[in-house]
Amino acid sequence: MTTSTIDISLTDIYDLAQTTLLKYGANQETANAVANTVTIAERDGSISHGLFRIPGYINGLKSKKVDGTAKPEIEQVTPIIFRCNAKNGYAPVAHHYSLPLLIEAAKKFGLAAVAIQNSHHFAALWPEVEQIAEAGLVGLTTVSYLPWVAPAGGTTPIFGTNPMGFAWPRAGNNPIVIDMATASMAMGEVMIAARDGHEVPLGTGLSTSGELTTDAAEIVKGVLLPFGGHKGSAIALMVELLSGPMVGETFSYETQANDNAEEGPARGGQFILAMSPNILSGKNSNNQTDRFFEKYDAIKGARLPGARRHKNREDKGPRAVNAALIKTIKQFRDNN
Ligand code: NDP
Repeated sequence: MTTSTIDISLTDIYDLAQTTLLKYGANQETANAVANTVTIAERDGSISHGLFRIPGYINGLKSKKVDGTAKPEIEQVTPIIFRCNAKNGYAPVAHHYSLPLLIEAAKKFGLAAVAIQNSHHFAALWPEVEQIAEAGLVGLTTVSYLPWVAPAGGTTPIFGTNPMGFAWPRAGNNPIVIDMATASMAMGEVMIAARDGHEVPLGTGLSTSGELTTDAAEIVKGVLLPFGGHKGSAIALMVELLSGPMVGETFSYETQANDNAEEGPARGGQFILAMSPNILSGKNSNNQTDRFFEKYDAIKGARLPGARRHKNREDKGPRAVNAALIKTIKQFRDNN
């Protein structure tokens, strides 16, 4: 099936997202933070977390599950531990306030962590860890979500799609950024495949009757599987623990029980860790890691994680966005 697209500049993507959010009660700070998240996703080709998410962001505001005027509160529990109460707001606002504190503490003490609570995360994780890596630190973050993923061997969902992000800084170069769902495919990608009538690889998920299928629409109704069999399932479990009890927040199944089931991201937690390789190792490892990445890059057929996005970012031109999606967002904006 061919999908009709229209070209739209990054500035217009930002304006469309921001003005629509403002119309539905987001304050300027939330509208700016979310519009920025959506725009950088479109810029980097992370389209499942770009404008595609705006209807969900708007519905979150409309159903009052998310507070578009929330101002996060941050407590410095120890010199290196922060607890950020996002007060039911969207996650980019919590990041705006907590990441600079985290980075400052990790630069000073070698390590720092923030437990984000009462937050609604609806985006990719690379912006958080990339910001940490751009400050010369290593970043690690996890988020859990609604139970859509069955553990290896099972057909009953218990895990969220449970993404984790990791970034390693490189002096004078883009950081290495790994950002992946522990589900075989992020639900946003499966939903886009279902919308566009594309098949997904066998092993992505099961139909409502528990059968393996390549039909994305069937998987949206059924259950996703973790990537990599029992090993991916074990990592999904780790993400579930780090994003729930580690930060004083809910497991995915508890998140679902607390959710109003309206479209838009459910409330949950996020674990973010920043580490200084220089302080931990007592060395400047730039030359050593550069030699490693040069060796890696020289392997035919291999590329570094994050490289696709960083390449997309070089293009400052308009992005081809699904035409029906633009129409829907404009209806949201103009019919309120
Ligand atoms: P992908 O499988 O597309 O990519 C995972 C990682 O692998 C990326 O870092 C990617 O880098 C890298 N990669 C991809 N192909 C290659 C390759 N051939 N060689 C080397 N590295 C490669 O991501 P997912 O579909 O698993 O996740 C998509 C997004 O969904 C993520 O951003 C995730 O945070 C988000 N998500 C958010 C959730 C939430 O609740 N907020 C829930 C679940 C997912 P590159 O980007 O450069 O391609």
